[in-house]
Amino acid sequence: MAETIFKKIIDREIPADIVYEDDLCIAFHDVQPQAPVHVLLIPKREIENVAALTESDRDLAGHLLVKVHEVAKLLNLESGYRIVANCGRDGGQSVDHLHIHILGGRSLTWPPG
Ligand code: 5GP
Repeated sequence: MAETIFKKIIDREIPADIVYEDDLCIAFHDVQPQAPVHVLLIPKREIENVAALTESDRDLAGHLLVKVHEVAKLLNLESGYRIVANCGRDGGQSVDHLHIHILGGRSLTWPPG
């Protein structure tokens, strides 16, 4: 898979406002926030999207989901938040590196567009 802008963030080749990092993942503020708080949580390993996950990624996928709430707590989203993982063209994915959007800081409407 082609290297993305997110790989450059992981490698510190371009700056990002990082809020959390461990051996497996990193979270940083979205450059075009769609809510008062909008953070992207991504694996450091390059995986294109949810559709590219396999059984061998089970631990990493679980790690990401568990870290969502830890990151949300760091962001003071105690009254709630939404997670989104756009997948593929119809899903609205624009960066081909798996990422979980964490959105909050206001009451979010449903359904999304
Ligand atoms: P997608 O549309 O693939 O679900 O989400 C990609 C997200 O990455 C978008 O919300 C977009 O604003 C964000 N994004 C794209 N380029 C950059 C960048 O260079 N830095 C940061 N922090 N976010 C980016």
